[in-house]
Amino acid sequence: MRVAIQKTIGVVGAGFSGAVIAHTLAEAGYRVAVVEGRSHVAGNCHSVRDGETGVLTHVYGPHIFHTSNQKVWDYIRQFAHFRPYTNRVKAIYQGRVYSLPINLLTINSFFGKIFSPAEAQAFIAALGDATITAPQSFEAQALRFLGRDLYEAFFKGYTLKQWGLSPAELPASILKRLPVRFNYDDNYYASTYQGLPEQGYTAIVEKMLDHPHITLHLNTPFEPHHAKSYHHVFYSGCLDAWFGFDEGRLGYRTLDFQVERHAGDYQGNAVINYCDASTPWTRISEHKHFAPWETHEKTLIYKEFSRSCGESDIPYYPIRLLNDKALLGRYVARARAEKGVSFIGRLGTYRYLDMHVTIGEALETAVQFLAAEATGNPLPAFTVDPLGSA
Ligand SMILES: Cc1cc2nc3c(=O)[nH]c(=O)nc-3n(C[C@H](O)[C@H](O)[C@H](O)COP(=O)(O)OP(=O)(O)OC[C@H]3O[C@@H](n4cnc5c(N)ncnc54)[C@H](O)[C@@H]3O)c2cc1C
Repeated sequence: MRVAIQKTIGVVGAGFSGAVIAHTLAEAGYRVAVVEGRSHVAGNCHSVRDGETGVLTHVYGPHIFHTSNQKVWDYIRQFAHFRPYTNRVKAIYQGRVYSLPINLLTINSFFGKIFSPAEAQAFIAALGDATITAPQSFEAQALRFLGRDLYEAFFKGYTLKQWGLSPAELPASILKRLPVRFNYDDNYYASTYQGLPEQGYTAIVEKMLDHPHITLHLNTPFEPHHAKSYHHVFYSGCLDAWFGFDEGRLGYRTLDFQVERHAGDYQGNAVINYCDASTPWTRISEHKHFAPWETHEKTLIYKEFSRSCGESDIPYYPIRLLNDKALLGRYVARARAEKGVSFIGRLGTYRYLDMHVTIGEALETAVQFLAAEATGNPLPAFTVDPLGSA
């Protein structure tokens, strides 16, 4: 049953976090003002059709929807038709092409063998460095599991480029499980559902926000002092920005994309990783392969470069090393003392979140808000713990 509640909720950011909350609360009868600093909705999932090639382009880098969460899968498909899609990534190292994640084809091609699954398993186990009993770093963990050759081919150079740090400086927790499959399964994601929205992600968010109770304000940077105009604010901007960065900046990596247009098919696959440290880009995405049901004579590629995030750059990947976590702890303590605002999404909680996690958390946050309203209690600053193990 819908109720007419004359209270305006402020939602900062029109990415999936903000859009899901805005839609859910609008459906529950609230007026919602969505305030977005950019000129478009959908946050980093924004997709547009390129004028020159006609290719549907993932503007902030390639996004593949995958989930094992039935509720999220059912929810998102209210707003779009998804086409089945399987992400199969290739890797180039020292002039040869391999299959990722490391699987039986990768092992057999790399070592020039025709191992069965059991033979490959025994072979890799023997390559692992058994003298490393309590690996502390990502490098030690990889050497323990895989041995030096596979580690150097598929992790060392790529990680250095992606994070600007040697794997020896990164925690072992990054490589939680043995990153190897002893079969020919090259489906990048082990999720129950995987697909891409036929019309792109921006069309989904536009549909979510197309509601009589929602007003959308694009090109409108929100500042904390605006919060007093709203009954409650859901803030999906950077946590440290809310406090004017006065404790310091949380560390992020940013990405630069070199966009090129070519005739025909550039690389024959959506994503190819470049694992040599001497190649400056980390990967090349060819966006028309994210829509294999479409036909385009021309093609558009993104060469992706990773670097440290400066003050005017877009924050992409939270680094979350020990010093960032200490700083995060200070901001979280201050955020918990704020009234009338909840910090949400990848930037508000300083975590890497896939889209399905973002959507699941936003749905849950909206449910908790409605429950809190029903009992007259305020919603806390966080509905998930940003200091948890993301
Ligand atoms: C390179 C890359 C590739 C990815 N690939 C995948 C993938 O393949 N599959 C997958 O599931 N997920 C992927 N993700 C994750 C996905 O991008 C996130 O799950 C999603 O963007 C999170 O949504 P959000 O709303 O929390 O944040 P965002 O999308 O970042 O949205 C936040 C919005 O808030 C706005 N904003 C911030 N501060 C303010 C302010 N003060 N005033 C007004 N507006 C403000 C921003 O402009 C932005 O539009 C990828 C992420 C990256 C970085």
